[in-house]
Amino acid sequence: MSQDHTQKAGFETRAIHGGYEPDPTTGAVIPPIYATSTYKQDGVGGLRGGYEYSRSANPTRTALEGALAAVEQGERGFAFASGLAAEDTILRALTSPGAHAVIPDDAYGGTFRLFDKVARPWGLAHTPAHLADVDAVRAAIRPGETALVWVETPTNPLLSIGDIEALAAVAHDAGALLVVDNTFASPYLQQPLTLGADVVVHSTTKYVGGHSDVVGGAVVVRDLEVAERIGFHQNAMGAVAGPFDSFLTHRGLKTLGVRMDRHCDNAERVVDFLCSHPAVGTVIYPGLETHPGHEVAGKQMKRFGGMVSFRVNGGEQAALRVCESTHVFTLGESLGGVESLIEHPGRMTHASVAGTALEVPADLVRLSVGIETVDDLLADLEQALG
Ligand SMILES: *Cc1c(COP(=O)(O)O)cnc(C)c1O
Repeated sequence: MSQDHTQKAGFETRAIHGGYEPDPTTGAVIPPIYATSTYKQDGVGGLRGGYEYSRSANPTRTALEGALAAVEQGERGFAFASGLAAEDTILRALTSPGAHAVIPDDAYGGTFRLFDKVARPWGLAHTPAHLADVDAVRAAIRPGETALVWVETPTNPLLSIGDIEALAAVAHDAGALLVVDNTFASPYLQQPLTLGADVVVHSTTKYVGGHSDVVGGAVVVRDLEVAERIGFHQNAMGAVAGPFDSFLTHRGLKTLGVRMDRHCDNAERVVDFLCSHPAVGTVIYPGLETHPGHEVAGKQMKRFGGMVSFRVNGGEQAALRVCESTHVFTLGESLGGVESLIEHPGRMTHASVAGTALEVPADLVRLSVGIETVDDLLADLEQALG
């Protein structure tokens, strides 16, 4: 499909056709894995299609980057070796030592570590703020110094919701850019650039890849000047996605829509089940009317996602027992794959924030609800909680 056609098309069409035309020489419908580091030049500087060296560009990665831009409705997409490599590139491309950023007070642990242990010593200060509270974000901004407002919505693992449109206005009033980590929602459920965000970042390791078989990251931007800065740093720092990883991530992206709908269907059933179970305390899911971010989530997300957190009556030991008793839910970190995962954030994904303002409750269990037969998931939780 031509670029013009894809831009106007619906989400699934963009996910399947964006960024790639069947190969002109062979007609290959799927982008080949270009396992090459360099390219023959037709005379000095005579590049074919602009390809010179695979850190700078590789056709398998170019196809993925085009598809990422298409699904997020951005101007340009960039693929990285991991979500954190994508984040690091944003920080160095869009801030400089002496600048300041506002970050979520329950950021993904690795994001917090990057800000606190890598960017801060480099010279980028940060203030954690509760993003569900727009006034708290406004108060955390340092006029003239704040370069970025960094948003995760829903957050990990407490699934709190930030109002992207309102936060974009607050950031822009202060001359800052709004960055949204869209990993938990995925581009199917939420497209932050259409709500005023300047930069979207993903760990494509999660829903975009979707099969727990590849680690990767993405940045999508809507402004050409920002794109140039990200593109320069992507090449200058070199944390790019390789051709094999790009191929797998691109293959995953094509089925994102159908997978997400099933993730959401199954998560809704799991939430219903947990809400009426006597061994379960609070259930945290943006789709619940009792969730403080329910209204905002309903406004900016197509559905409420596949991540569910809950507190177990009986404290940390009881929560650990549940995590160690499931058979269909696999005990493991990460999320967003077709298989269901269970984890204890306090001891696993969020162990690095223990003792800080970002600490999570010890009786909290997080589920990444997969797309298995839902009755098997419910039976597994029933026996684990019993
Ligand atoms: C996993 C994750 C990241 C980091 O991505 P990697 O691919 O593991 O480097 C960033 N943000 C969120 C919300 C994540 O879940």
